[in-house]
Parts: sequence; structure tokens; C-alpha cells
Amino acid sequence: MAQEARLIPVNLVLNGLWQQESRAWLAAGVPLVPVRRVAEALGAIVEWQTPQKAVLLRSGATRVVLVVGRSTATINEREVRLPRRTRVVENQVLVAASLLAEAFGAGVEWEERARVVRVSRREPALLQKVVAIDPGHGGKDSGALGATGLPEKEVNLEIARRVGALLRLAGGSPALTRESDRFLSLPARVEQANRLQAEIFVSIHHNWAYQPEVGGTETYYYLTVSGHTLASQLQRQLVAEIGLANRGVKEAAFYVLRYTRMPASLCEVAFLSNPEEERLVQTPEARERIATAIYRGIRAYFEEKEVPKEVY
Ligand code: ZN
Repeated sequence: MAQEARLIPVNLVLNGLWQQESRAWLAAGVPLVPVRRVAEALGAIVEWQTPQKAVLLRSGATRVVLVVGRSTATINEREVRLPRRTRVVENQVLVAASLLAEAFGAGVEWEERARVVRVSRREPALLQKVVAIDPGHGGKDSGALGATGLPEKEVNLEIARRVGALLRLAGGSPALTRESDRFLSLPARVEQANRLQAEIFVSIHHNWAYQPEVGGTETYYYLTVSGHTLASQLQRQLVAEIGLANRGVKEAAFYVLRYTRMPASLCEVAFLSNPEEERLVQTPEARERIATAIYRGIRAYFEEKEVPKEVY
């Protein structure tokens, strides 16, 4: 009998929420997810049929049956091969995440650095929305330097990339003003967003103060009610996710807020001059969590504006 791949626990981000209580698993590089938790989050009804050791998932006209121990499942009576067999671990049925992607049109991806499996339904509020994501600084402009020398430009870029990945997975159209460590002027950032006619503009920064004990999260907007609404959503989600001091939503005539033609916000996620906060933003896991918060702030902004429930 072939040796079964060892299971390695990894992190799970489900619909843009970092999961504290549940996790995903890797079996020789293939992500497996707890079927009840994930299928329910994708809008399916889950039934466990004990004698057959089968799980039935129903959503609209879609009906999926999977059986513990098998490497096949059915989607509407059609047999589908699974890359790994379905199994029970810690009292949960684990199934290849790719099956749920295929059955329910969910987005699934494995991200190595933060060791995270991201699973997301398509979000009606985000579909085809061009969102300009602006990682502050870059190239010769490092931005703030952390207590132990961490450059702001690097943290901003990695978080921005993660926000982009989360938006894309949910059906959005993110556009990063820079994708690499290069210098970009403020007018060039604004010009890009305006030319793309982005729906909103979100700039990602980290703060700095002379006193190392100063810390917390703050988010800026300029002039408009819609900018304030966007900033409030971002600030709320960031504070809830990473739990730093809430320094509030503030108004400032920063160049990128003033000259962008769409609702615009600028997040100062944490203080790099504060050794504890610098340590926090150093890990890929924390950067993923920060990105999920910014992602949810963006989603909440669009949901507040529209989305009648029948779209679902
Ligand atoms: Zn900055």
C-alpha cells in the first residue's frame, strides 16, 4: 500500500477572515479544508450521513457528495477525481479545497510565505470593481525606518500585494500603483489611479514618531463624505484585526488624497518606531492579517453602497 502523505496544519483565511479556531492542512502540497466550516461559508447546506460516511453539500441546484476514505466525489452525479482522498482528522471531514472551488465557484489559493490557504466566494459587491492599491514609498525612498531598521516601503508592498490577492480571489480587479521595489512620485500614483478610473484609492503606510512608546493605527481621508466612509471602514477593520490603539479617522490634505478623483484613504497601520509594533508587522502571518482587514474594509465600503440581497 502506498504511503499516505503526511498532513501539515496551515493557516486558513475564509472569505477574507483569518480563522482563529479552524485551520487548513497540506497533504504533499495539496490544500485540504474542513468541509463543514468551508462549505457553509460558501453558502452550502451540509448534511452528514452516518451509515455511508458520506457528506452531502447542497447549494441552489448544485449537489455534491463525498465519502470518507475515497479519492472521488460527485458534483451533480458527475464523478470528479480528487487530488487527495477525503478523510477525518480531529473530528472533522477534510476534503481537497479544489473540489469546493469547482462545485461552488469559489476562489482557492495556497500562499507559501504566510503558510495560508485562502478560500473565498465571489463577492457581488466587488465584481469588476477597479480598486487602486498604493503601497507607500519604494526604491530610493524607504519611508520610515523601524526601530531595528525594517524599511516601511517593504512592509507596505507586501501588505498591498496580499490585499490585491484577496480582492482578485473574490472577483475584484485590484490595480497596484507599484508591484516592485521602485521609486514612484506622488503625482505618478495619482495619475495612474485617475487614468484607470479606479472606484476607490487605498494607500498603505506605516507611521513613525520620535518617542518609541507612541503607537496605534490611524486612517486618513480628505474632504469628502465618501472618503470618510471608506477611511472609517478601513480603520474599524484594522483595529478589530490587529488590536493596536485606535488613533481614529483623521483628515489631512496629503497629495494622494487631494488629487485622486475617487474616494481615497490612507492607512497608517502601525508605528515602525515602536519596537513592539515593528516586531508585529515583521511576520508574513501578521501582514496577511493586516491585508484581510484592509480587504474587509474595502468590501464593507462597497456593500454599504449597494448589493441587494437577491444578487446572492
Ligand atoms: Zn509612509
